[in-house]
Amino acid sequence: MRPAPERAPSRITGGSAAVVLNPERERSLLRGHPWVFSGAIDQVHGDPGSGATVRIVTAEGQTVGLGAYSPQSQIRVRLWTRDAASAIDGAFFRERLRAAIERRRALLGSESLAACRLVHGEADGLPGVVADRYSDVVVLQLTSAGAEHWRDAIANAIEAETGCRAVYERSDAEVRELEGLDARTGAIRGTLVETRVEIVEHGIRYRVDVARGQKTGFYLDQRDNRARVRDLSRDADVLNCFGYTGGFALAALAGGARSVVSVDSSAEALALARANLEANGFDASRAEWAEADVFQHLRQLRDAGRSFDLVVLDPPKFAPTAAHADRAARAYKDINLLAFRLLRHGGVLVTFSCSGGVSPDLFQKIVAGAAVDAGSQAQVLARLQAAPDHPVMLAFPEGEYLKGLILKRF
Ligand code: SAH
Repeated sequence: MRPAPERAPSRITGGSAAVVLNPERERSLLRGHPWVFSGAIDQVHGDPGSGATVRIVTAEGQTVGLGAYSPQSQIRVRLWTRDAASAIDGAFFRERLRAAIERRRALLGSESLAACRLVHGEADGLPGVVADRYSDVVVLQLTSAGAEHWRDAIANAIEAETGCRAVYERSDAEVRELEGLDARTGAIRGTLVETRVEIVEHGIRYRVDVARGQKTGFYLDQRDNRARVRDLSRDADVLNCFGYTGGFALAALAGGARSVVSVDSSAEALALARANLEANGFDASRAEWAEADVFQHLRQLRDAGRSFDLVVLDPPKFAPTAAHADRAARAYKDINLLAFRLLRHGGVLVTFSCSGGVSPDLFQKIVAGAAVDAGSQAQVLARLQAAPDHPVMLAFPEGEYLKGLILKRF
């Protein structure tokens, strides 16, 4: 049962810290969004420290939830719960983790469950927490003051609920700076001598370097999209741009591609891609690895008169926020235009953006502009998103970062 509404500030002065919302700015939170921006707060009571739990109180004095206070961030409070009577403690995190794992159990087969995102931040009621499972190792990334505050409780919950051999922390994302947090990496539960862990995805073996890899080591969000590419690859000459450790390249080879050219600027990623190819016993003569800048390399391929049946574009985040959208739009347009020029008639372009600042609608417009400039006509065969272990909350559209299109060129 919900407690009766309280009047501010009588309870607020009583000890527990609280923020009082500006009546003009409380709508978003009340409609389901999990953030309170600094400008939406009229008063702060009780001098909460970084990550401390605060009650969120409306101007009318009703407590509408509990959240984590972040004194340095524009996102001043991130909601833990709308149940004001609940306690934020070790049991709370264990319960949230258990629920997140249960949701995935209902969605994924046992193979995918062994290599999946167990916790996807706000969408799992755990803002600032990402936990990726790679076999018997869980990689934890904490990016908010609240998540940092409860680091031990979260690591304990992961250990208890998954029975994993080790929890490895990769709290080295740049966004931590906005919360006043330093980078931190290393094993926080168990020990890891060998930081390369093997996973199996749709029957393909990949080695994931949890210590040195990008993000938490692997792009699990593309799991089902890699399977789509596999299904489109029979007898195709494939160009795989931003290839990282060979995700789409191996999927294409598994699908019967005639040849796959992968381009990535990271020598380390390509070395692991080669190792992954070998581990699966694929024919190495069908794979070409180019350590190069995609923007330049696509121009070289075009100048060399190369063409492909299938092109995959999976670039890094060009626009972390909407403020970067303009520059990002130019970059997306450039690579998509080049891709269309390299695509044979009847060929297929699989193109992605993982920029939170670029909406699916805007992305489609950018790609459409690129097609026009390349003199190509294309049909949308499918729209793609992140795999279901990266859920999106309806009230939190910011969570929908990955979008993609499968396009057939006429
Ligand atoms: N498609 C991959 C993930 C790609 S991540 C998968 O499914 O696993 C983005 C990759 O782009 C990274 O490997 C990074 O090294 C590479 N990268 C970033 N900027 C680049 C550039 N300008 N040219 C080539 N590669 C780039």
